[in-house]
Formats: sequence, structure tokens, C-alpha cells
Amino acid sequence: MKKDIIVSIVAPVYNEEACIEAYINETIQVLQAHYLNYELVLVDDGSLDHSVELIKTMQQKTENIRLISLSRNYGREIAMTAGLEGSIGDYVILMDSDLQDPPSLIPSLVDKALQGYDVVYAARTSREGEGFIKKVSSKYFYKIASNMSGFDIPEDAGDYRVFSRKVVNSLNQLKEQNRYMKMLYAYVGFKVTKLPFDRNRRFAGETKYNYSKLVNASLDAIISFSNKPLRIVSLFSIILSFILFLTATGIFIYKIIDAEKIAEGWASMMVLMSLMFSILFVFLAVISEYIGRVLVETKNRPLYYIKEETNSSVLQKENIIDDL
Ligand code: UDP
Ligand code: MG
Repeated sequence: MKKDIIVSIVAPVYNEEACIEAYINETIQVLQAHYLNYELVLVDDGSLDHSVELIKTMQQKTENIRLISLSRNYGREIAMTAGLEGSIGDYVILMDSDLQDPPSLIPSLVDKALQGYDVVYAARTSREGEGFIKKVSSKYFYKIASNMSGFDIPEDAGDYRVFSRKVVNSLNQLKEQNRYMKMLYAYVGFKVTKLPFDRNRRFAGETKYNYSKLVNASLDAIISFSNKPLRIVSLFSIILSFILFLTATGIFIYKIIDAEKIAEGWASMMVLMSLMFSILFVFLAVISEYIGRVLVETKNRPLYYIKEETNSSVLQKENIIDDL
């Protein structure tokens, strides 16, 4: 039993009525067995099912459960951010609330961090219950993201990990809207190590991620952290315009030497024009991607709004007794 540290668990919850009770029970059991000071911070990401009611009922029976309810569905990255900002622990653990990240691993993660690491991530040795396409695409996504951003994004890492307070405070300073947490972890740095584990199947219910959400997340991750796409397009168009320039010069010379043959040059004109237009449109697409993001960042809006906060915290209770 560790008495001298506070351990926070942060878990986003979005329509997890099928999992949430089992998740809370299992996690609290592990926490009670190992730590004197702990909190379970559940961030409701605008759930539309009975998740919130279930959590509130459990708060009445169980100590140290905090609920932060966001005003709508912001997506998992923002929900995790809200939890990190709300957490008070010396060590903060991020995990999913569908029991894919086994709570039994918590003590080993914290122990490893206590050996002097700022981040210990749980490295997936298996990805049970994930489709072939998801496995392959995520493998390549991490390679591309690492290459483009210049940060090392380990492909066996999920979000299941423990942070020291230093790292949590550093992450809390990053206020960008297009946040892909795994990029932000890489960005802040600190002393990182990993701990292998088997990722389970979801306890119940279905994944909240469809392919369009995954593509969006990948685009956010790459574009908000790198200007390489813009570079590639500009390099490509410079080369292409050089070739086009040579072609045009060639045609010009040919026209001087043998004017009659080139008279029906309509087809080559069309080829040139469509080539030029295609470059132009690719360019426009990339530029608008960036401008779109610049626009979002310059608005500098708060990342989220909290609808309601309820606690069943021992710390909270002590305060009430002091007041009396
Ligand atoms: N989640 C969330 N907001 C969302 C989608 C998901 O907070 O918009 C939470 C969800 O409740 C779960 C975690 O993020 O705790 C991971 O979601 P899911 O299991 O659907 O993703 P997968 O494990 O399939 O990648
Ligand atoms: Mg899951």
C-alpha cells in the first residue's frame, strides 16, 4: 500500500453504459488494494445513453469517483485533456473505460514510473478484436506520422500510460484545438519507457471509431504537426513547372523549324492546361487545409465547456468537515 503518492486515473466515457459499471468496479478494486490516496476521474464526453446516471449511482456507493461532464461530444482527445486538467494526482494514468486497457496493469505502470520515469506507456503485444485493415492502417499511419513530424511515435503504444505531474503540467500548457494526444506526448518529451501488455477485446458495446473519424484524426495529427505536405506539393509543382517550361521551349523551337506541323497543336495545349490546373487545385487543397487550421487556432476558444461536476471524493468530504 503506497501512502505517500496520489494516483489519478483519467478515463473518457462516451456511451459506455454496457461497460462502465464493470470498469469502475474493477479499477476501484485495484486502486483500493494498492493506494491510500487515489481518484478516478471519469470524463463524460456528452454521452447520450445512461452512462452518467450509472456513474452517479456508483458515486453514492464508492469513494473517490469524480465525474466531469462535458457539454457535448468533443471526441476522445478533448475528453482526455479535460480529465488531465482536472486531475490532482502525483501520477496520472490515462485509460479507456471499456476494459480494453486492463486495470490490473495500473500498479506495474506506477511502480515503473516510481523507478524514475516520467512516462510509462503500456505497449500492446496483441490487438485482440481489431480488424485487419485497422491494424495495417495504424501501422503505416505511425510510420508516416513519425517521418513527417520528426517525432518518434511508437506504433505499439496506445493512450494507456502513466504520467508524472511534471508531464501532466506540461501537457496542460498545450492549448491547440487540433490535438492528437500521441503527438503531444511525443512533443513534450521527458523520460519515457514502456511496459508490454495484451490489449483485451472491448468488454461490451461497440467501438466509437469509424473510418472517417480515424482519417480525421490522422489528418489532424500529421498536418497540425508538420508542414511537409506543403513542402512535397511545392517541390512537386516546381519540378512539374520546370518540365512544362522545357516542353514549351521545345514546342517553340519546333514551331520555328517546322511551322506547318505544329499548327494543329490544340491537343498539346489541352494537356498543358489540364496539367497546370491539376497542380493549381492540389495547391489550393493543401493551402486551404492549413488556412482552415490557422483559423481554428487563432480563434483561441476554450477547448471544452464543463456542464456539471460531481465528486465522491474523500478530500471533498474532509473539506466539508472543516467547514462545520
Ligand atoms: N470515447 C470518447 N469520445 C468519443 C469516442 C470515444 O470519450 O467521441 C472514449 C470511449 O468511451 C472509450 C475510449 O474513448 O473509453 C476509446 O473508444 P473506443 O473503445 O470506441 O475506441 P477503440 O478502442 O476502438 O480505439
Ligand atoms: Mg476501445
